[in-house]
Amino acid sequence: MADIKFKAGPLGDGEVESISLDLYHEMERENLGICLACGSEREMCEPDAENYPCECCDERQVAGSLHFIITDMIH
Ligand SMILES: [Zn+2]
Repeated sequence: MADIKFKAGPLGDGEVESISLDLYHEMERENLGICLACGSEREMCEPDAENYPCECCDERQVAGSLHFIITDMIH
């Protein structure tokens, strides 16, 4: 199973829809954030990080692990 599922958008791949439980645990262990726009990982993200800038796509949509619990985004 893919660690990140994307919503199907009008232009193909859209935003992140959900992440796997394995990836969630990895985020907690490693303090990773995930960009909701492109799915890239970012280091040095606290669990409650919101709207951090993404080095990959320049959107400010990187979220910490807690975001995925609160918004029920774990598959
Ligand atoms: Zn991004």
